[in-house]
Amino acid sequence: MIDYCRNISLRPYNTFGVDVMAAHLFHLKSPDQLQELLDFPAFKEMSGNMSQLLVMGQGSNILFTGDFQGVVVRNEITGIRVIDEDETSVVIEAGSGVIWNDLVDFAVSRGWWGIENLALIPGTVGAAPVQNIGAYGAEAADIILQVRAFHLQNREWLVLENSDCGFGYRDSIFKRELRNKTVICSVVFRLSKKGRPRLDYSGIREELDKKHVSEPSVMDISAAVASVRMSKLPDPAIIGNAGSFFKNPVVSESDYRRLQGAFAGIKAHRQGDQYKIPAAWLIEQAGWKGSREGNTGSYEKQPLILVNYGNATGQEILSFSEKIQESVFTMFGIILEREVNVR
Ligand SMILES: Cc1cc2nc3c(=O)[nH]c(=O)nc-3n(C[C@H](O)[C@H](O)[C@H](O)COP(=O)(O)OP(=O)(O)OC[C@H]3O[C@@H](n4cnc5c(N)ncnc54)[C@H](O)[C@@H]3O)c2cc1C
Repeated sequence: MIDYCRNISLRPYNTFGVDVMAAHLFHLKSPDQLQELLDFPAFKEMSGNMSQLLVMGQGSNILFTGDFQGVVVRNEITGIRVIDEDETSVVIEAGSGVIWNDLVDFAVSRGWWGIENLALIPGTVGAAPVQNIGAYGAEAADIILQVRAFHLQNREWLVLENSDCGFGYRDSIFKRELRNKTVICSVVFRLSKKGRPRLDYSGIREELDKKHVSEPSVMDISAAVASVRMSKLPDPAIIGNAGSFFKNPVVSESDYRRLQGAFAGIKAHRQGDQYKIPAAWLIEQAGWKGSREGNTGSYEKQPLILVNYGNATGQEILSFSEKIQESVFTMFGIILEREVNVR
């Protein structure tokens, strides 16, 4: 039987540690329980109003700004299995509730390549395709073959190939057309047995040098990524946060040239004919790095991360984030888009 609670605090279920209530919370442990969910009175009462539905994993990319009156489905579907293998690659299917870093450990401990730069990203496998998680020069879209999901409105199974997922920078079809409509139940990945280290990103090579590793194994790389991350990012178990609050803005060449003329020191990663500017730099220049207002603030070591110092409400964090957006816009003419999902 599906595990169900009424009027329950979501504080333990979001990494910001915001205390809001959910009217209905379901713990989905297997796709077999989907029918039970559909038949539940609370689900039927939504009568197709999908804005009252939230499918979530570990809540590490969500900011709750008030009590949630609808139905929360916490995805806890586990299991990892190898479904195909040859001399060069392996195909694995992971249940969407598997903790992402457990999947990374599963792969790197077997010497499989492709996922190592994504070590220690919080959250579940099912959320990885939603915002196409990325870090240290890699993203989930590089290794995802298929996403298997259940469409709750149409009551049908969907198998989306990588090319159907509309992957972009922290973006996919699950944030757009399929938003609040599907439960992603498993994700299929192709990993490689032949290594291709990607080390040219924010301190990984330096971390390996410190350990005198010149020909790193896949485990060395994931350990180096984990260690760089632990030195820079706040641990949500100690200080509430949801990682980067905003995306890095992408601007045209002419806009970038204008900014370069006005702001010495501005940097960007070139992407084709566009430029991705580090949002952290913009926020720091606008004077917000390490600043604090009541129970919330911008993290001292990484201004892109907004934190809950204790009892912040989602509204406090949201209004603080809006002040940052306003001042970055006033200074640079750039609109910072949120990466975190506000509910
Ligand atoms: C300290 C810290 C560091 C982080 N670093 C990174 C980073 O380097 N790179 C990065 O990309 N992200 C990063 N994040 C953000 C976060 O870890 C990812 O977005 C992660 O994928 C969220 O997983 P989750 O299970 O917590 O999803 P949730 O926060 O629970 O949900 C996120 C979104 O996905 C949807 N969703 C979740 N599961 C499903 C499902 N099964 N079916 C359908 N929809 C679903 C939800 O509705 C919601 O819209 C970081 C967060 C923290 C706290």
